[in-house]
Amino acid sequence: MTVDATKPYDDDNIFAKILRGEIPSTKVYEDEWAFAFEDINPQAKLHILVIPKANYVSWDDFSARASDSEIAGFIRAVGHVAREHDLVEPGYRLLANVGHYAGQEVPHLHVHLFGRQPLGPMIA
Ligand code: ADP
Repeated sequence: MTVDATKPYDDDNIFAKILRGEIPSTKVYEDEWAFAFEDINPQAKLHILVIPKANYVSWDDFSARASDSEIAGFIRAVGHVAREHDLVEPGYRLLANVGHYAGQEVPHLHVHLFGRQPLGPMIA
């Protein structure tokens, strides 16, 4: 089921459980602001999800409510993960789905990072 991105944060979502260590994930990076792990159903040779440690439903919620430090910390973490995986050349793709039309299914902001292959005009 897709997410109503205007709803308040729901602590029971699967990424909140991953952050609390209640369900397993394959961690690739963690710092004060962000946690990154492998997508369970990869859509590219490399498919990582980067999520903020604090509770935001979507990119919309994050961009509206997060502090400048949280925003900077999170964006730097995403860039760090890409560099750490040596993706900058030949390139990679970032994607954040917001709400029903985009098909967002987990109501905790996550940035998809795709790489290690040519990605075409879009991954839908
Ligand atoms: P969509 O599934 O349509 O891409 P989202 O943008 O909400 O919707 O993405 C959710 C992503 O989370 C999916 O790529 C899915 O494979 C991934 N996912 C769901 N559960 C887990 C899990 N337990 N561990 C890792 N990735 C997960």
